[in-house]
Amino acid sequence: MRASRFFISTLKEAPSDAEIVSHQLMMRAGMIKRLGSGIYTYMPMGLKIIRKVEAIVREEMNQSGAIELLMPLIQPAELWQETGRWDKMGAELLRVKDRHGREFAFQPTAEEVITDVVRSEIKSYRQLPLNFYHIQTKFRDERRPRFGLMRGREFTMKDAYSFDRDLAGMQASYQIMYDAYVRIFNRFGLKFRAVAADNGAIGGTGSHEFHVIASTGEDALVYCPSSDYAANMEAAEALPVNPSRPAATQALSKPATPGATKCEQVAQQLGLPLAQTVKTLALTVEQEGGGKAYFMLLLRGDHELNEIKVGKVPGLSAHRFSTEQEILDVYGTVPGYLGPINTKVPVTVVADRSVANMADFVCGANEAGYHYAGANWGRDCAEPAIVADLRNVVEGDASPDGQGVLAIERGIEVGHVFQLGTAYSEAMKATFLDENGKPAPLQMGCYGIGITRILGAAIEQNYDDKGIIWPTAIAPFELVLCPMGMDRSEAVRQATETLYAEAVAAGIDVILDDRGHRPGQMFADWELIGVPHRVVIGDRGLKEGNLEYQGRRDAEASAVPVAEALAFIK
Ligand code: ATP
Ligand code: MG
Ligand code: MG
Ligand code: MG
Repeated sequence: MRASRFFISTLKEAPSDAEIVSHQLMMRAGMIKRLGSGIYTYMPMGLKIIRKVEAIVREEMNQSGAIELLMPLIQPAELWQETGRWDKMGAELLRVKDRHGREFAFQPTAEEVITDVVRSEIKSYRQLPLNFYHIQTKFRDERRPRFGLMRGREFTMKDAYSFDRDLAGMQASYQIMYDAYVRIFNRFGLKFRAVAADNGAIGGTGSHEFHVIASTGEDALVYCPSSDYAANMEAAEALPVNPSRPAATQALSKPATPGATKCEQVAQQLGLPLAQTVKTLALTVEQEGGGKAYFMLLLRGDHELNEIKVGKVPGLSAHRFSTEQEILDVYGTVPGYLGPINTKVPVTVVADRSVANMADFVCGANEAGYHYAGANWGRDCAEPAIVADLRNVVEGDASPDGQGVLAIERGIEVGHVFQLGTAYSEAMKATFLDENGKPAPLQMGCYGIGITRILGAAIEQNYDDKGIIWPTAIAPFELVLCPMGMDRSEAVRQATETLYAEAVAAGIDVILDDRGHRPGQMFADWELIGVPHRVVIGDRGLKEGNLEYQGRRDAEASAVPVAEALAFIK
């Protein structure tokens, strides 16, 4: 590819609504363009990456025996009514009507459609197992679309659905997908972790999420460095509470020192000093069906504010009160402990990042079925960076498998595998005839990968102050050639064209920057875009028979003989 024939559009500054690095860098590198809230055009530079991600996913899916098809974006409401998801999905499901007034869903996933395909196609156990997948646009009307491709409303997902005759078969299909995911994420060149997940709402028997490790991730992952134990925070907290550490959920009900105030009890039981270091945040949250709920949080000075997501719903519900007065009764009486809690600070109008995170937190409450209404802040709480451990699980707790102590890190959910069981097949009467000629419901599994989210996650894990650092496997280009004065120097022009032709012949995804920009701007562009390998061709080096090679992570360029330049790439 020649840069003059490609479309490159970089920006010095990111738009102000881009809150996190990956969103900022993707906007600046001209990879995406915002059309509306959570809706983006994938620009040529971004689409190139998406296609590479898709290609790896497709190859590994095919390799694992899954079969590709393509299911429609627009799906009849009747199918969704059969499983009850037409009602259950609530506002996240985008609904449209045709000219006859018939209702349709824009697919957020495709369990209903694939089950409908299979119930009419599959008659006998002899046709099983089967795993169908597609890579298709999804729409979810997220309550808070944000962070660019990370939480879009329209996005691309690979979703696969397995069908088996019995539980053992389904578990085998699940394991095949799990193994394929491990290969996929390894091929991307990303640091990731698979964690056990709760599959609550969907039902079924087992589930794992695949997370790209990044300090900016929305999810907390609990793992044991000396064993295989790994779970997301929700699943870890669902286990019986660690007896060595009283649960936050018990903090308000268990007496501590006799005669202590409620406030002192909480502090004692959470192991927090009851000094200025402990601050409080009261939240007023409007419930979906009307009415208000009141929550109290303890904030501690030595925690980063982004920790707040960790204890999100469990932390909140642990300190739920029935009236605002009750909060005042319990907390409002200790001098120096709590400021007036009736200073209303609408979260949305406060721009600073810490408060944006507060809004995220309240969003956590949303997921549990609450609307954010307004936050009442204690006097001391306008400062960022302070949240208590209201978690049942903290770093250093004993691992549930008894093999060591737990560590916590943050991750971005990029893939999810579920054992669905027969929930969908029973609801939709998707049966097959078993060996005895008796009808039985199909055992199902489903498996998603957030194709477009991968881009954001990869960047959150790999960037520096100059821009993105793509792992080679998913870089928009593997190699950029930067000639110094190709129009002035015949030697440079010739060396560049030769190297370009060689790179193309070697199957390297190369771009030749023939735009005629000055070196500074040329380098800044490619560092921002994040191409992993760069070769500079200039008269000075050529006189010595050299080119300059620099890997995107290298501090400096190094001279390499012309003949060896490509050896660095593959
Ligand atoms: P999240 O917890 O982030 O809302 P989810 O659990 O709702 O994600 P799944 O239903 O498990 O998502 O979908 C499979 C995959 O699709 C997720 O692991 C994620 O990578 C991706 N995904 C889900 N929602 C979005 C979104 N709004 N934007 C981009 N990718 C998404
Ligand atoms: Mg979701
Ligand atoms: Mg999730
Ligand atoms: Mg999920």
